[in-house]
Amino acid sequence: MDRFVYQSAPMRVLFGSGTLAELPAELERLSIARALVLTTPPQEQQGREIVARLGVRAAGLFAGATMHTPVDVTERAMAVVRDLNADGVVAVGGGSTTGLGKAIALRTDLPQVVVPTSYAGSEMTPILGETRDGLKTTQSSPKILPETVVYDVDLTLSLPPGLTATSGMNAIAHAVEALYARDRNPIISLMAEESIRVLARGLPAIVARPDDRDARSDALYGAWLAGTCLGAVGMALHHKLCHTLGGTFDLPHAETHTIVLPHAMAYNAPAVPDVAARIARALGAADAAQGLHDLARRLRAKLALRDIGMPEAGIDRAADLAVTNAYWNPRPLERGAIRDLIARAWAGEAPVTVPLV
Ligand code: NAD
Repeated sequence: MDRFVYQSAPMRVLFGSGTLAELPAELERLSIARALVLTTPPQEQQGREIVARLGVRAAGLFAGATMHTPVDVTERAMAVVRDLNADGVVAVGGGSTTGLGKAIALRTDLPQVVVPTSYAGSEMTPILGETRDGLKTTQSSPKILPETVVYDVDLTLSLPPGLTATSGMNAIAHAVEALYARDRNPIISLMAEESIRVLARGLPAIVARPDDRDARSDALYGAWLAGTCLGAVGMALHHKLCHTLGGTFDLPHAETHTIVLPHAMAYNAPAVPDVAARIARALGAADAAQGLHDLARRLRAKLALRDIGMPEAGIDRAADLAVTNAYWNPRPLERGAIRDLIARAWAGEAPVTVPLV
């Protein structure tokens, strides 16, 4: 076995159905007496119910979380933290709400409890992406890592099938890139393979029957494992490409990941054939890239960047940007092949594996 470094994150995780009932006790463990509950506007009602459940341990609700963690929203939430004298935050929702909780924790070092209701995985990472004047910057700090995560399968039952599909594919993307990460290690690889296996099993069942609790449990478990992978090892071409495409053309996060992933896999597969075989095995497919494409299709997700707002003229620009800021990838970045990959993803074509030159 190769030498490796494995570092586990200091977090406490509760997983199951009905775990939300443990929230008051979890706040007590963290000595949080006045928690500010955070949600997006569509999840405000859920936030109100949690405030009611927490009773005197809740200081109030801020239901203004939004995509890309804009700094002006964080500043409004910070004013509420001060006004209510909150001594901790409880983020209930997807990656956007988790992002707001992290932004508050970075500024205040207050303890955070996250109750994830999507499969984004942000709750498992010490990473925060913030937007100021339309510009997104990313930073990492131990202060950003939540103290406790309460996964309650019941709260994911309301995630609509479309969001379930793309959020789940976004989670699979973390696991795929963890398997060929430069700093990969055998422990994280075990988690990554298991994550792909349970998500590939759970997601189609959820799209067929959104209230299938076993399938929901599979998906949330897989998302947790995938988030752990994202927090533990470095990502490569797929994540960089999605970051570039999302930032340049203002594309939706999880849908972009869903569309690009099979193509990024096809590009990298010849450089990491063992990993590609492992991913194919986890998907129950003959080929990793085709297996990911087929899974996205079964989930009835959009398959073309042109269908989520990317202009055709952007293909060359995206290819230039993708090779401008050099970063590590298992296969060296070849502009021509990357341009072809983006063009195929733009048109919604099947992935094509290009042999190493
Ligand atoms: P999101 O948080 O924006 O959620 C999408 C919508 O779904 C929101 O309106 C939300 O309120 C709603 N929603 C969530 N769960 C629901 C449920 N159970 N029922 C009904 N509605 C529900 O999107 P996301 O895909 O969860 O997260 C994406 C964001 O997270 C991106 O901004 C991305 O950059 C960030 N992210 C960050 C990290 C990190 O490590 N920093 C990791 C992954 C994602």
